[in-house]
Amino acid sequence: MSRDVQCEALDGTSENAKLQGIPDKCPRCDVHVQPKFYLATRTVAGSMGTGQAIFRCTNQNCQELFIASYLRTNLIDGSRHTYFLESVSPVAAIANEFPEAVAKISPMFVTVFNQAIHAEAQGLDQLVGIGLRKALEFLIKDYATEKNNDDFEKINEIRQKQLGPCIDTFVEDANIKQCAKRAAWLGNDETHVVRKWESRDIGDLKTLIQLTVNWIQNEYLTKKYIEEMPPAAKV
Ligand SMILES: [Zn+2]
Repeated sequence: MSRDVQCEALDGTSENAKLQGIPDKCPRCDVHVQPKFYLATRTVAGSMGTGQAIFRCTNQNCQELFIASYLRTNLIDGSRHTYFLESVSPVAAIANEFPEAVAKISPMFVTVFNQAIHAEAQGLDQLVGIGLRKALEFLIKDYATEKNNDDFEKINEIRQKQLGPCIDTFVEDANIKQCAKRAAWLGNDETHVVRKWESRDIGDLKTLIQLTVNWIQNEYLTKKYIEEMPPAAKV
């Protein structure tokens, strides 16, 4: 999709322009829309320059303004310079919702995980893995603390230990342990210069954290139902 506009420079002059690529999704609410165009501007840097256009989201629940950034080219179409869409901003992060049990066991996990997702939405890709690694540490240590909440010495040990040994020593459930260990391996890769798991990426780390969350939730729900419905109470 394209649109003919006037691109105004800082000195008030403007040129005919063709915006090649109109955003079809609002970066603020993540909904597909045909946004309303307001105005376009250009900067002149060398022969190329850039352009920016302001759009408004037409989703009734959003209606926010956002900016589409364009690269100005020397490609002339009629009397119009062609501008190619590069990116849209600001990108709002959609917070992940986690099962109630997990949010209760480790509110810091939820906070740190969503901060990492927020960093990712802002394009801060080098910080995402570090954030996820920290979120995982909160999740595992809070989970282990909850399991040993009547033993002060063990809680102290959980807090002091590095993540890997903490998983080995204090996570008993095989599924949680296997997923958390692998998440920790990939998480450690994100904090070091040299990667050990070169073929794995942030997507794998997110999946392993999600699996860990799911297994913790399963364990919690299973225990809850067994406790609430003892065989003697059956009708
Ligand atoms: Zn929107």
